[in-house]
Amino acid sequence: LRTAGKAYYNADGKPVYIAGAVLDITEHKQDELRKNDFIGMVSHELKTPLTSLSAYVQLLQFKLKETENSFAIDTLDKVNLQLKRMSLMIDGFLNVSLLESGKILLNKTDFDVIALIKSIAEENRIVLPSHFIQVIGTEQTIVNADMEKIGNVISNLIGNAAKYSKKDSFIAIKCEKIDGEVIISVEDEGIGIKENNILRLFDRFFRVDSAITKTIAGFGVGLYICAEIIKRHEGKIWVESKFGKGSTFYFSLPAEQTTIP
Ligand code: ADP
Repeated sequence: LRTAGKAYYNADGKPVYIAGAVLDITEHKQDELRKNDFIGMVSHELKTPLTSLSAYVQLLQFKLKETENSFAIDTLDKVNLQLKRMSLMIDGFLNVSLLESGKILLNKTDFDVIALIKSIAEENRIVLPSHFIQVIGTEQTIVNADMEKIGNVISNLIGNAAKYSKKDSFIAIKCEKIDGEVIISVEDEGIGIKENNILRLFDRFFRVDSAITKTIAGFGVGLYICAEIIKRHEGKIWVESKFGKGSTFYFSLPAEQTTIP
């Protein structure tokens, strides 16, 4: 049950009466849980054939290497790339479902977030040769967090920066330590986001309703997952954007006090 109301007080500060409304949201909540279970089940079921498909493709790629059939090799590379995209989408849905049911646990360790950013930037330079990916900041910065999940957040933000910007533009990843917090940002020179969309950007399934967004594949779950992961680390996530000029996504993590020599 959810209640919304207001209390009215007399001159001595004693409540005189309370006006309000009581809403039954049990039905709505159950609907959400059912939807969530369904998403989890479907994603899980899709994962199995997709894993076998990827294995067969890898086997074929291995065999084809011994031949000179460049058409077959190229085509299979394309198949593999699409399979990877599909797999990432399904992982996204699985993560949403796990997050919603509270089943995601953090595996926290102390690590240097700059080293992580550098290795993710390197991986993304291979997958996204269309963009110039820069890392700004080199000082070792230790955080106590789930390295894999923070890596997923950074990768997701870089992926979006590339998706929503032109070929050959810059993506800058920065890491700063300010007042006991580590702030990581991913800046792009892309399409930008109008102010009225910013508030809903981290909502589940939200996509900006525009002609450009419709031409770009996505389900609106990436930023929701990022926000949930950061929330669970007691950090914050936000965006600053200029429509038509570009966006900078930020997230903060509490800095670890220990310094490693
Ligand atoms: P998806 O990209 O799959 O739609 P996300 O949750 O990652 O889902 O992003 C939600 C929406 O936020 C996107 O559909 C897009 O409209 C907007 N968005 C995200 N990142 C950017 C960006 N770097 N620049 C402009 N718009 C963005």
